[in-house]
Amino acid sequence: MDSSASKLRTFINLIRKERSQNNSIVQKALETNLRRMYYLALVVIPMHIAYVVMFWITEPSSGEEAVWRTGIIVVHSIHLIVSLALAIIISRAKRQNHLSNKAVFIQYAFIVSLSAMAISLVTIDQHVTTNITPFLVLCLGLAVIFLLRPTSAFIIFSVVLTAYLLLIGIVQKEPAILLTNRVNGITFVVFGMYLSLILWNTTRKNLFQEEEIKRQQKELEEKNAELQRLAFFDTLTGLYNRRKWFEFAEEESRLICRYNIRSSVVLMDIDHFKKINDDYGHPIGDKILKEIADLLKKNLRAVDKLCRWGGEEFIFLLPNTSVEEARKVAEKLRTLIEQAEFSIDGESIRVKASFGIASIKCEENPIDRAYERVDRALYMAKQGGRNIVVSET
Ligand code: GH3
Ligand code: MG
Ligand code: MG
Repeated sequence: MDSSASKLRTFINLIRKERSQNNSIVQKALETNLRRMYYLALVVIPMHIAYVVMFWITEPSSGEEAVWRTGIIVVHSIHLIVSLALAIIISRAKRQNHLSNKAVFIQYAFIVSLSAMAISLVTIDQHVTTNITPFLVLCLGLAVIFLLRPTSAFIIFSVVLTAYLLLIGIVQKEPAILLTNRVNGITFVVFGMYLSLILWNTTRKNLFQEEEIKRQQKELEEKNAELQRLAFFDTLTGLYNRRKWFEFAEEESRLICRYNIRSSVVLMDIDHFKKINDDYGHPIGDKILKEIADLLKKNLRAVDKLCRWGGEEFIFLLPNTSVEEARKVAEKLRTLIEQAEFSIDGESIRVKASFGIASIKCEENPIDRAYERVDRALYMAKQGGRNIVVSET
């Protein structure tokens, strides 16, 4: 009992999943159908004209044939006008961004007009021939041209088959011919429905694969962006890291040699930061590091390259800036830091920092040489009592 209940539940879940997957591609199927209908309309218009001319110029050999001929001409003429109208409506609808209801209406109008034409032709044909080719073409066309969800396909094919069976029954008086035409008609419909189902499932699978590929691509791009972020940014402060600084410095040293300009590098180290950690704890130390990073960022130019060198040290590259100008910048930052009150958990903490400054020159190993000079300048600042700016000597 339990197992049959769980089987039923599994079956219901499967149906629900199928339905939701079908719903998710209905819009795409509609867009495809609209495009295909447009081109189909363009193809059938000259065909109708050709058929009307061919039937028109053929002399009927009997009164019955004349009626048949007129009937065929009328059906093709009507469908010619309908196809023309639908082609115009579709070309206008295609320009609109939102298709929805209008597209659904156009799709069913197209299916009804095609079915009405094919069944009318077959019915009229039964007056003089046993031909049911238009019905075969209709079944294949419905299956191949329109992407129809299985329930819609089932309803459409059922209605079409019922109309066909009834109408040829009225006109075809030969019982044997009527029987074989009905049997053949049923075969076409079953075949058409089966084909329609296969195409729907294949399209659905392809669309899902496309979606999956797009999703994976997006995920990959996000992961790449994250890797880039991790590779070049410091996670605590959000500033560039030491690795990125070397990239900036390499680029800058090339420009310095080429354009004969002077750029400066500033190394900043927070004074007695160990004591802040000891007094207030590491998390507070982290918050202060972040706030100082924000303060530096806010007060440097967009062209300046600010990086966290490591620990409580920051390094910045000031392009096209002399040591004297860099000194003014560092002095301003030193004062701002000194005056800033870092209020954390209701407590006001004061911080000071020392600065070393050096220029990057066009020489061998310019980055290493500049770093040696700026490190020495910073050391002098620490030796000189801290909370001061020292330039290279
Ligand atoms: P000085 O004035 O000579 O620079 O003294 P200092 O205490 O700042 O220098 P020291 O090199 O002795 O200590 C640096 C301290 O910075 C030690 C370490 O705990 C702290 N620090 C380094 N990185 C971080 C971090 O990411 N977060 C926190 N909270 N502290 C850090
Ligand atoms: Mg340090
Ligand atoms: Mg320090």
